[in-house]
Order: sequence, then structure tokens, then C-alpha cells
Amino acid sequence: MTITTEILSQIPGDVLSGLEGADRSLASLRAGNTTIPTVIKSDSQPLGTPEWDVIICGGTLGILIACALALRGIKVAVMERGVLKGRKQEWNISRKELDVLLELNLLTPEELDLAIATEYNPARVGFAGGTDVWVQDILNIGIYPVYLLETIKQKFLAAGGKLLENTPFTGAMVHPDGVMLNQEFSTRLLIDAMGHFSPIAKQARQGKKPDALCLVVGTCAQGFPENTTGDLLLSFTALENQCQYFWEAFPAKDGRTTYLFTYMNANPKHIGLTALFDEYFRLLPEYQGIELAQLSFQRALFGFFPTYRQSPLQTPWQRVLTVGDSSGSQSPLSFGGFGAMLRHLKRLTLGIEAALETEQLSIKALNLLQPYQPSLSVTWLFQKAMSVGIEQKIPSVRINNLLSAVFAEMQNLGEPVLKPFLQDVVQFPGLTKTLLKTNFSHPILVIQLIPQLGLFSLLDWVVHYLNLGLYSVLFSLNRNLEPTLKQLPNNYLYYYHRWVDAWKYGSGSDYSEH
Ligand SMILES: Cc1cc2nc3c(=O)[nH]c(=O)nc-3n(C[C@H](O)[C@H](O)[C@H](O)COP(=O)(O)OP(=O)(O)OC[C@H]3O[C@@H](n4cnc5c(N)ncnc54)[C@H](O)[C@@H]3O)c2cc1C
Repeated sequence: MTITTEILSQIPGDVLSGLEGADRSLASLRAGNTTIPTVIKSDSQPLGTPEWDVIICGGTLGILIACALALRGIKVAVMERGVLKGRKQEWNISRKELDVLLELNLLTPEELDLAIATEYNPARVGFAGGTDVWVQDILNIGIYPVYLLETIKQKFLAAGGKLLENTPFTGAMVHPDGVMLNQEFSTRLLIDAMGHFSPIAKQARQGKKPDALCLVVGTCAQGFPENTTGDLLLSFTALENQCQYFWEAFPAKDGRTTYLFTYMNANPKHIGLTALFDEYFRLLPEYQGIELAQLSFQRALFGFFPTYRQSPLQTPWQRVLTVGDSSGSQSPLSFGGFGAMLRHLKRLTLGIEAALETEQLSIKALNLLQPYQPSLSVTWLFQKAMSVGIEQKIPSVRINNLLSAVFAEMQNLGEPVLKPFLQDVVQFPGLTKTLLKTNFSHPILVIQLIPQLGLFSLLDWVVHYLNLGLYSVLFSLNRNLEPTLKQLPNNYLYYYHRWVDAWKYGSGSDYSEH
């Protein structure tokens, strides 16, 4: 019996079967033999007046947008295959990112206080052989999803929303004037919030293998010595199994959460989740300075996140939009899909409302609600720099050395550069300064990186980097044009506002410290 089997078999719930199932899905995704579902079909006949304005498939993050829309008077139904409830494990997020819940009236200040299960400070970023960087107020709040989703669900129902639980989405027919779901429910707009493995997203991506994967395993356990600090990104080992292991740790409601995560491409020879769990239990005692026997494991957590360069996902159908994990709108560096949803929640809510009001539900109009964002695309190269191919040979300390150098430069540049980056927001000025300083102080390290990344990736990145600059300029220029352009007729105004949003979010200009 391995240590993983021994520990996971003691945790309530059939964790081991879940892990085996996840490993099987991972293997078939890597082998490229997943079936492409045909859940969306088109019919040129009109449907007649649809019953709903919006049907959202998938209730986990879907309920947030559902409630925000329902509160604005839009007729919304949520179709959830199971019972809508949040997981027990907290979602980590920064305080400022939660303001949108108040702004959109999804929570009152009192309810927000109740949703916050934990808060800690400070958090550490560190890499073997380098100096630790300590930061305050970044991803230091643990939101309790059970409470959050239940509260928002009640608000959604009170606002007239309809919740269809135990109702799996099975298919949809897109008509010129609406969409029929499961041959039963008609709507003007279908929103897919069914997560990374959504059948709609699978069909839209046509079985494409992910460009990269992030694997994460971890536990929430009791028995650790009192520790009110956390780790955001920490590595203390060199490359092993063609992986750089990164760790995260923080105080949680039910003990202390520790995660081990690593980035890789989709090569089937890379490590799987069970093997990564073995590594986690092998290294956890060294990481936290404690014997496994001293710990009482409350729950195990694991997952794999497929990421695609072509993100966010733009669907090839009118009247169909993806949000949340299915849209791939979070950075390939993070598994903070809840945070990414909150970041875009106001933009999406207002955008969807405008699309419905002006009947802008064509492919072109909806694609602008999930626009190309250079701030997201530039992060691909960072992910590549933090991973290694299965046959690739690089010095085992390369990634640690590189990250130590980059974070030391960011620390020197100060919080305005460091803080947005750690919250997955990349901005042109901060990135440019960091690149210049790193190139200047560590030229050899940077030159060594070129063969590791490959010329194609570098050239591709340069395009996104230049676009990042361009989007920053366009967003700033817009401030002068806004008074004139606001006079445009409604249809044009829809497009104008979506482009401004694209420049804003695509340049990281949505981020503000206060
Ligand atoms: C170990 C781990 C730790 C994480 N920590 C954080 C964190 O600290 N902070 C953070 O921001 N994010 C975190 N995340 C990510 C976060 O959990 C996800 O981004 C989030 O759950 C995505 O929500 P979603 O609704 O888009 O997709 P999912 O969570 O996958 O939910 C999809 C929903 O769709 C439903 N569904 C699926 N198929 C159908 C169907 N056919 N019909 C109807 N309904 C369907 C499902 O039942 C489910 O309710 C973590 C993830 C993991 C695995």
C-alpha cells in the first residue's frame, strides 16, 4: 500500500475512486482520444418567442452571473446537473476583488463578512536558493463557497430566477431567434458555465489537445503548529520528474491547506495525479517541518486544468456564450477561476444586458464579450518558462534561478509592479520594467532561456507584448474620445463599449489597488 492510498483511504468520501477517475480523464485527454460531442446543432427555422432571456448551464460560478442578471430584471434560469451547492474548501482571493459582489448587490456587507471564513497575512513567494519575498493582502482571504453559493442562490430565487436542479444539459438547437435546450427550455441566449470539461466547450474546441496543463494536489489537515502566514508560490526542490514543483499553503477554516502544483505540456509521459500525490506526501514533511503521522487529514483536493493558447474561448455559434472555467478566461498560471470570474463579473453582466437589450446576439457580437486579451496571452510564455518538456534537458536549478531573479527585481520595483502580477494581472509598464531590469542584471540567465522557450514561442510572445502596449495606449486615448463617442446609436454603442472593455481588461487597466 502506498502512502497516498493509506492516507486517502482514511478520508471520508471515496477519494481514491475520484482520483483514479480524474487520472483516467487526464490520460485520455493527453492521448487525444476524447470524443467530440455534438451537443449544439443549428436549425434555420424560427423558434417563436423564447420563454427565457438567458439560460445558464452549470450553477457553480454560473449562479453569480445568473443572480447579477436576475437582479437587473432579466428573465434567467439556471440548469444544474446536480444540486447547486458550494464546496467546503475555501476559495482564496484578495479583499479588493470581492467589492464587485457588493456593487452588483449579490451580497450585503454583513453577508460578505459571513462569507469570509479566513483571513491571513503575510504571504511568502520564494524559490530554492533565492531570498523570500513577503507580501500583504494578496489572495489572503478564504471565501466559504457553501455559504456564498447558498446566499446568492436565495437572492437569485427571490429576484424571480428559476433554478432547475438535477437537470443535466444534454443538447441545444440554435434557431435564428432563440435556442431550445434539452428539447424543452427555450431562451434567447445560452450561457455555458459547465467548467473545463463542458460538452459545449469540447465541441467548440473540436477535440483540440490542451496546449498546457496545470496539475494540483493537496489536503486540508489539522495538527500543524500555529502558523498565521501563508505561501503563494514556493519551491524548495530542483526539477524532478521533468517537473518544477510549486507549493501553496495557508490557514483554513478546518486546519491548514497545502497544495502542490506543477505546469507541463500535454505529453502523455508526464506525471499523473496519483503519482503527484505520492510526491506531495513524500515532500510535505520537509515543506512544513512536520511528520505525516502528526496530521489529521480533513479532506483531499486535486484537479487538472487544461489551458489553451486560444483563450478566452469564442464559440462558433450565435446566441451561445461561455463563462467561468469553460471559457478559459483565467491565466494559464493560476487555478484561480473564482477570482477570474469576479474580475470579469461586472463587465460580463453589463455586456450581456446590453447584448440582450440591443439584440446583439450574433457570433461577432458575443465574441466581443470574451475578447482577445494580450494581458492573458503574454502569460503563456511565463508558464512555458516554468515548465519543461518530457525530453527537454535543462539544468535542474534553472527555473528556481530564473524566478528568484525575476521576483527580486519585481520586489525592487515595488508593490505597484509586484501586487498586480501576483493577482494574475499583467500591465505593460510593470512588465517592461521587470524585463529590462532582469535582462540588465541577469543577461546570461535570459540568454539561456531562449532555447528552452523556442523561437516560435518568443516571436508569438513579442506580438502579444506589443499588443499589451497598444491596448494600454488605446484605453488611455479612449478617455478623451468617450464624450463624443457616447452619442453613437445604441447598436454601435454596444460595439464601442465592448472594445473599450477589451482594451481595459486586455491591458490590465481594470486593476486598481484602492
Ligand atoms: C484544488 C483546487 C483549488 C482551487 N482553489 C481556488 C482558489 O483558491 N481560488 C479560486 O479563485 N479558484 C480556485 N480553484 C478554481 C475554482 O474552483 C474553479 O475555477 C471554479 O470551480 C470554476 O467554476 P465553474 O462553475 O466555471 O466550473 P466547475 O466548478 O467545473 O462547475 C461546473 C458546474 O457545471 C455543472 N455541470 C457540469 N456539467 C453539466 C451538465 N451537463 N449540465 C448541467 N450542469 C452541468 C457542474 O455540476 C458544476 O456545478 C481551485 C480549484 C481546485 C481544483
